[in-house]
Amino acid sequence: MARSDKAPADLATRLDTVRAGVTDAAREAGRDVAGITTIVVTKFHPLSLIEALYTLGVRNVGENRHQEAQSKAAQLAGLDLTWHFVGQVQGKKARQVRAYATVIHSVDRPSLASALASDDSSIDCFIQINLTDDAARGGVDPVNLPALVDTVLATPGLRLLGLMAVAPLATEPRRAFAHVRELGEQIRTQAPSATALSMGMSQDYAAAVLEGATHLRIGTAITGNRPVLG
Ligand SMILES: *Cc1c(COP(=O)(O)O)cnc(C)c1O
Repeated sequence: MARSDKAPADLATRLDTVRAGVTDAAREAGRDVAGITTIVVTKFHPLSLIEALYTLGVRNVGENRHQEAQSKAAQLAGLDLTWHFVGQVQGKKARQVRAYATVIHSVDRPSLASALASDDSSIDCFIQINLTDDAARGGVDPVNLPALVDTVLATPGLRLLGLMAVAPLATEPRRAFAHVRELGEQIRTQAPSATALSMGMSQDYAAAVLEGATHLRIGTAITGNRPVLG
């Protein structure tokens, strides 16, 4: 596919704007932008949008619903895309998610770690932190983080990259991300190589970069509004 084969001009403009925003935030933070991976979250959007992003150089895409992600990954298997699963994973679907995902951002309980275990291959993962009081949001309560880190480290086939979180609506994002960074520093005593931080979305990625995010998960700022599904 040639560049601009399929990519609408507004998509290219939004992508360029976010890339420039990430570069600016990295400069402000005194960080090398090469240490920051921008994942474009393409949930609800059609395959054609992912193909268009591909022609614009995007190689990291994120999805949050298993069936949709599985189908898209199968249909786009010919493209060298890295699939990031950022949604909640049901234990009984864990092995299927593992089959197409390169990175799972949402390990949040010991039973899910066990369901993802494998003696044959390794997959990268993040432990998701829940920064709210609402258990339905997914993520582990920070008080249970050290035990979950131990479980993940002891699980064959899981390589722990670091921590993932979504900033709660009620909190100033930078404070929330600073909290995640501190938790990341704490788990280094258990998992010295788990240095990555998956945090920052369309509205708050600059704050996340200032607090050390290594993986940004950006949807609407790049894709435009998500189609409404029935
Ligand atoms: C949808 C989603 C995003 C992207 O959200 P935007 O606000 O569209 O950038 C990031 N992370 C997770 C876990 C998501 O579900």
